[in-house]
Amino acid sequence: MADATYRVVESRSAADGTERLLLEGADATRIETVAMPASGHTTVCVSTQAGCPVGCRFCASGLAGFGRNLTAAEISGQVAAVAALPHLPPPRRVVFMGVGEPLLNARAVGAAVTRIERDFGIGRKRMRVSTVGILAGLAHLAALPRPPGLALSLHAARDDLRRRLIPYRPLAPIADAVRAALDYGRRARVRIAIQYLLLAGVNDGDDDARGIRDLFARERVKIDLLRHNEVAESPFRAASREREDAFAALLYRAGLHVSRRTSRGAGAGAACGQLRRQIPNGGAAYRAGDALDSDCFHPATR
Ligand code: SF4
Repeated sequence: MADATYRVVESRSAADGTERLLLEGADATRIETVAMPASGHTTVCVSTQAGCPVGCRFCASGLAGFGRNLTAAEISGQVAAVAALPHLPPPRRVVFMGVGEPLLNARAVGAAVTRIERDFGIGRKRMRVSTVGILAGLAHLAALPRPPGLALSLHAARDDLRRRLIPYRPLAPIADAVRAALDYGRRARVRIAIQYLLLAGVNDGDDDARGIRDLFARERVKIDLLRHNEVAESPFRAASREREDAFAALLYRAGLHVSRRTSRGAGAGAACGQLRRQIPNGGAAYRAGDALDSDCFHPATR
């Protein structure tokens, strides 16, 4: 099956070159894709679902409700759509970090990984799938002949706090999600990333940092500390620079590999999941929710 083709409904550019695209498919489903050009190549952030059923409290995508899973052709078609933009360098990295939980749509995501490698020459280690830790989906991805890179979106070291931030009912306990992700990394021979969005007064304390340290001491992982991209409607605030420093220092001292990330595309006029709702009739397929924030992190430096 050929890649899905799209009409570009809207494109917004930020000062850093990031472009947020609102794409419309043949059945009028609208999908957000982000292109992040840097150093002669473009990283594409693809959506894997129309809307998201997970409902992370800090993310606009989940609050907009869930439409349906995208097909493999619709996922790889987003890379084709970016590749067709003449002003951007060619896609060389793909991150599955757009709208949707990729591993609730694991079969299509696995097939899309294979298609993207075949059609765009983007190797499996230049693709990264981000998940809250869907165990069945991880097993499916691990069984692929050429499994991609992986990021586990953790955001908390305690189950009670994590369930408040990620209120998806069947969410796996942290211990199980971490074990499955570490197993995946060993089997796929990739260093996994642990994503941790630092929220002021919520998960940025020394106790939280010690919890992360204890989970990953002696493991071959990279901890990505993510800076929250504040918007007025969000109940969350970014952790202070002092708290960020202290959090990172505690992990460094334990010998962990830590990177600190700021979001790209903040000036593109919409956080992830919001563009669709800012365009007239953009979110017609989904129920309206409060506009909150989510982040798009520049993966080219990962
Ligand atoms: S952060 Fe990802 S998994 Fe969570 S609601 Fe947003 S799109 Fe879904």
